[in-house]
Amino acid sequence: MGLLNGKFAIVTGAASPRGLGKATATLFAQHGATVAILDLDADQAAAAAADLPGEGHVGLACNVVDKAACQAAADELIAKWGAVDILVNNAGITQPLKLMDIMPENYDAVTDVSLRGTLYMTQALTPHFRERKAGSIVNLSSVSAQRGGGIFGGPHYSAAKAGVLGLTKASARELAPDGVRVNALCPGFIATDITAGKLTEEMRTQVLAGIPMGRAGTAEDVAGCALFLASDLSAYCTGTEVDVNGGSLIH
Ligand code: NAD
Repeated sequence: MGLLNGKFAIVTGAASPRGLGKATATLFAQHGATVAILDLDADQAAAAAADLPGEGHVGLACNVVDKAACQAAADELIAKWGAVDILVNNAGITQPLKLMDIMPENYDAVTDVSLRGTLYMTQALTPHFRERKAGSIVNLSSVSAQRGGGIFGGPHYSAAKAGVLGLTKASARELAPDGVRVNALCPGFIATDITAGKLTEEMRTQVLAGIPMGRAGTAEDVAGCALFLASDLSAYCTGTEVDVNGGSLIH
């Protein structure tokens, strides 16, 4: 069954082959959506788009920290497709730094991609969504926003992802009268390249010990929840945070 038949979706940061964005883009395409993958490198974005099931998917270079680039990508896709229905703000980076080791450039890099990028892409699509009185925005936060880190990212990452939660709820409130829904996903420990090669065996054992389901999540676990939030299955949900963490934040 195609939950997104005839829909047009944008997923940022979706070129990473084992990433959450790519898995989400793949599941959306399997459900009938036409998808645009936005990422830093044009060739990688195009290759990822070509790898999706079905025809007509698009890969574009777009640094989400660059407001003009976000607007240009949104305008190009609206002109090409005539409509955009779904935006997944997935681009994000992390760094395993302790509080006192966070330098200004670390703060800028980590908070900018998640928080500024989510704001800029949301701003780029909001007039279009408002005009159509429809739209679903899914923002990637993290369990580290809810519990103050503890997996991999430093305090600046937790702060950026907590910022994404605030931005999600405030924009959900503001855009609800326009028929636009905004929700957040809070993944726990998911095996992707964001931590690849940087997580020691000791850290891994410690993290797994804190997960009642006893395993790391998969990118597909997150994609399934993104599909729920993007589709009409969640038609009466806005401003929510959906936990995808194997039970690591039961409270
Ligand atoms: P990943 O590193 O596999 O992929 C991230 C992608 O974002 C890459 O393709 C990268 O090129 C792209 N990107 C980075 N900066 C960008 C920019 N300025 N503009 C556009 N694209 C940019 O990461 P992932 O694990 O798939 O994570 C995806 C999202 O989920 C991130 O926001 C991350 O913080 C969040 N998240 C991940 C986990 C996890 O355990 N993997 C847990 C919680 C939240």
